Parts: sequence; C-alpha cells; structure tokens
Amino acid sequence: MDDISKLMIDQLKDAYSAERQALRAMPKMMKNATHPALKQCIQMHMEQTEGQVERIEQALEMIGGKPGRKVCEAMRGLVEEATHEIEENDRGEMLDVLIIAAAQRIEHYEIAAYGTMVTLAKAAGQKQLADLLAQTLAEEKETDQKLTDVAESEVNPAFIQSAQGSAEANENSRGSSRRKAS
Ligand code: FE
Ligand code: FE
Ligand code: FE
Repeated sequence: MDDISKLMIDQLKDAYSAERQALRAMPKMMKNATHPALKQCIQMHMEQTEGQVERIEQALEMIGGKPGRKVCEAMRGLVEEATHEIEENDRGEMLDVLIIAAAQRIEHYEIAAYGTMVTLAKAAGQKQLADLLAQTLAEEKETDQKLTDVAESEVNPAFIQSAQGSAEANENSRGSSRRKAS
C-alpha cells in the first residue's frame, strides 16, 4: 500500500472515532439544552452524523482500509469539556451558551479534519473519495453556521437579558439591605 493511502486511512480512522464519540455525546447535549431551536439543531445533526459514520465506512472501503481501534484523543477532550459544562451548570440560558460553545468547538475540529481529507483526495486525483467526504464537510460547516445563527438570534440575547436581570436584582437587594441597616 502506498503512503497516500496509508495516510488517508489513518485520517479516516481518526474521523471515524471522532464521529462516533460525537454521536454518543449529542443526546446528553440535546437533553440539557433549553432553547427549542438549539435542541432541534443538535437533533438534526445527530441524524446527519449517523450518515457521516456510514460515509467513512464507504470511504475506507474505497481505499482498502478498515475502521480499526484508533481513538481520536482530540474529540475525547472536546466531549469531556462539553460533559463538564453540563455537569457543572444548571439548565438554562447560560448552559445553552456553553453548549453552543462546546458544539462549535466540535464542528471546527471536524471541519479541519474533513478539509484536510478532501484537499488530499483531490490532490491525489481521487475524485469519488473527495466528493464523498465533501458532503460531510458541507454538513459540518452548515451545522456550525446554524449554531452561530441560533446563538445570535436566540440564545445569546436570552442569556444577556437574564444575566442583566439578575445583576439588577442583586443591585436592588443590596440597596434595600443598606437602607435597612441605616
Ligand atoms: Fe461529523
Ligand atoms: Fe483526532
Ligand atoms: Fe459535526
């Protein structure tokens, strides 16, 4: 087997592990999200990710590789961070912001991985492989953009409003306790 195939198989194995770890993490992220638009975005991407796992299996078959036992350490860390935020914070506006932040870190890692593979496959003249992986790359970019849209239109404004509201409430209760003291 030539070095191009070896390298590509290794990249695909890493992506295979990454996708499966992401797939396992998403139900928890969805369950702990509050905003319906965010829940829906994660739900949709879970379904896409099942297809992405299948694409990697196809891609490996095309070049004579098998998934194997390689573990993507980066995705393990990213999932760990997401899990940590979910466990350390109550559900609500702030956790929604943190879930989007964690989800976008995951998407950006995937965009880098598929970007590399598509570019490499093109360079090697493997058009079929490049086209297959480009479908997943497009889905990851689309998901990243949707998360940005949900953050900008819904989740960030809701968080800022609730954070400013509770800051004001704190301010008022401090004011009234000062008045009582005097
Ligand atoms: Fe993915
Ligand atoms: Fe990796
Ligand atoms: Fe993704």
